[in-house]
Order: sequence, then C-alpha cells, then structure tokens
Amino acid sequence: MNRPKSEELFALAQNRIPGGVDSPVRAFRGVGGTPFFVEKGEGDRIWDADGNAYIDYVLSWGPLILGHAHPRVVRAIQEAAARGTSFGAPTALETELAELVNAAYPSMELLRFVNSGTEATMSAIRLARGFTGRDVIVKFEGCYHGHADGLLVKAGSGGATLGVPDSGGVPGDYARNTATLPFNDIEAVRDFFAMRGADVAALIIEPVAGNMGLILPEAGFLEVLREETEKAGALLIFDEVMTGFRVARGGAQALFGITPDLTTLGKVIGGGMPVGAYGGRRDVMECVAPLGSVYQAGTLSGNPLAMTAGVETLKIIEELGLPEALDEKVKALSEGMADAAREAGVPLTGACCGSMFGAFFQEGPVRDFTGAMRSDTERYAKFFHSMLKRGVAFAPSQFEVGFMSSAHTDESVEATLAAAREAFAEL
Ligand SMILES: *Cc1c(COP(=O)(O)O)cnc(C)c1O
Repeated sequence: MNRPKSEELFALAQNRIPGGVDSPVRAFRGVGGTPFFVEKGEGDRIWDADGNAYIDYVLSWGPLILGHAHPRVVRAIQEAAARGTSFGAPTALETELAELVNAAYPSMELLRFVNSGTEATMSAIRLARGFTGRDVIVKFEGCYHGHADGLLVKAGSGGATLGVPDSGGVPGDYARNTATLPFNDIEAVRDFFAMRGADVAALIIEPVAGNMGLILPEAGFLEVLREETEKAGALLIFDEVMTGFRVARGGAQALFGITPDLTTLGKVIGGGMPVGAYGGRRDVMECVAPLGSVYQAGTLSGNPLAMTAGVETLKIIEELGLPEALDEKVKALSEGMADAAREAGVPLTGACCGSMFGAFFQEGPVRDFTGAMRSDTERYAKFFHSMLKRGVAFAPSQFEVGFMSSAHTDESVEATLAAAREAFAEL
C-alpha cells in the first residue's frame, strides 16, 4: 500500500502547522511513519488521499457512533446550514438537545453546551471551585480530561505516547492544586481524603478509563469515590466525554449505578461536530453566569449546525438501541483478536465495554497507568502498520481505545479478524 500523496501533503502541512497536525496523536509519533491524509468517509470506511480504503475503528476518536457521513445526519446539517450557520442568540435546538441529553443523563438537571470536551471539563472544574470555595482537584494517573492547564498532570495517552507526562507552559501553581492518585486504588483515595478531604473542590475521573488504553473500574472503586467526596463536601465529576453514549446510553453512571454531582460530555453528543457539555445538580449549576458568579461563555456555543448534528445523532441512537445493540459485535471483535493473538503466541490483554474496546500488548492484568505502561509499544507499532497495510485503521498509539459504530458490518469484523490473524503471525 503506497501513500505518495499523503507523504506530499504531510510535507506541505509541516511547513505551516506544528508537526503537520492540529492534534498531536495524529502525527503517528507513537507508531512511526507518515499519517495518511483522509479524503472522505462513508459508513465504516475511510479513504485516504491516495485512494486506499480502511475499515475505521478510530471514528474521529469516538464521536462517530453512526459511522461516517450518516445520510440523515448529513441531510440535517445541510438543511440547518441553509438557514444560517451561527446567530449568537438562543435557538430552540439547544433546548431540544438538552432534553435529549437529560433523558439519558437524569443527573444533569441543568446543562450548558460548549465547543469541546476540554471546555466542558475546564468549566466544570471552575464551577466546582466556585461552588465549594476550595482549590484542590483530585484526578487519576493516566486519565485525560482535555488540555486545560490544571488537568495536564499525568494525563494519559497523548502524553504517554510522546513521553511528556506534563506539559510545558503550565504554571507550577496550577499543577500544585491538582493531586493525582493511582486508578483503582481504594486505599490511596481513602488516605488522601482522610488527610486533605476538607481542601478538595472536586474529584474528576473517567469512570471507565479510555485514555491509557481501556481500563475498567474494579468492584467498589466508584462507590468509594462517591462516598468519600460526599463525606468531604467535595463534588464528584464524571468525565464522560468518551464514555457518554458509548459504554451505555446513560454512560458509566447508568452502567454502574453511581450518581455524580457533575458530568462532562462531548464526542458522541456532537454527532461529529464540535460540541461539549457540562451539567449536573441544579443547585451547583445555578452558580453559572448569568444565574451565579462563575463565568463561562462562548461565541459559537450551542451552534445550530452542531446542535442539529447532535439532535439527529441522539435520535438515531435511541431508535437503534445504541450502544447496547453493538455489544455482540464488539465482543466478537475483542474475543476474536484475543484468540488470534493466543494462536500466534503474542501476549495480549484485551477488554471491552459497550462500543469501546482495547488491547494491551502484554500478559496483564492491567488495572492502572503503571500497569498500562508495561505494554510492548514497539510490538503495537508493528501490529498497527501491519493492519493498516491490510486496510484496517486502529489508533496510532498503544494507549488509545478502539470504537465500533452502527455502520460496522459483520463482514467488516470478519475481515478485521482475518487481517489480525495475519498480522499477529507476522509478529
Ligand atoms: C477526548 C476527551 C476529552 C477532551 O475532549 P476534546 O473535545 O478533545 O477537547 C476530555 N475528556 C475525555 C475523557 C476525553 O476522552
């Protein structure tokens, strides 16, 4: 499979854009080689600038649960565009999307739309600090919550792949207010809250971790977070930007039966357009301007094209019973990959949750960031390129998860497994 056109486009991009990309993981640094430039997508496929087709399990890093260019979503966006692309005044679409989100996330009594997951978590943190009058934020090693300053501490995939756990340009004073604990470590949480609980504004977590590979919460872990934050008068924030409408229609909070104080969403709720949302307890959300003193705003927030794509996507999700309807297909892929690896004698530890799946190149078990880091990244890089050559696109990093869409056919899953058997054999 040759990609001369992508090579050329990448060279041109690097002249004007840092690393040739607008988001670092796209640059293939985690696996080496030149990223393919995408020409178009349809259903479960994407085509690169050289005309090569790939079965896509990246799906724009999660948002496209209906696959690429779903005809109904495309039509809805086209019709909305014809009526105007932005007004900076309220539209009924925002309430319509808010109602659809609230129906699946009843804990989000009030919610606010923003333009990305980063904005959602950044705003939720500010709100938690404003509401509690405290400064300290607790997060978990390997969890990624977007690129806001105070959250770029031990932040998972992008950093893990590039080998920079912290970012340059983040004042030490910001990072000092962010405490990090190991994922799945109940004792560490109990100890921390016993010492510092009274200083904590919020604890933020990916309830199913998806930015250090896929790691599920162990029994009782999320319950302890709920208990300790409540006891300390701190807020519990579930960052469901990735897991929302992905691990279950109602996210991890429905799957595990835990009610957070605040939730952040993004990715799927924008149907492929830039959307994020944060919301939760009415008394907390009433602290947001114009009702309260915590400021947060956006020229393009609640953008009509983005809201339209979100509304249409959430309607189709409900009609198709997603993501639950994908369970079997995801399991078939995940288990098929594990079988193929075993046959080839390649150590692999796989997991799946709803429409997300992951596989660490190691014996496992993996329960936290330190464990994830034991994976054989060189072997993953070889596997990645071997699959790409066979027309299957996984994420260009060992520490990202895979996503399934309603557009993925049984034939595509079969073709993926056939390619995986060859790729594992090559290792
Ligand atoms: C992707 C992601 C974000 C950041 O969202 P952006 O839209 O990329 O800013 C935040 N939290 C989690 C859990 C994510 O997966």
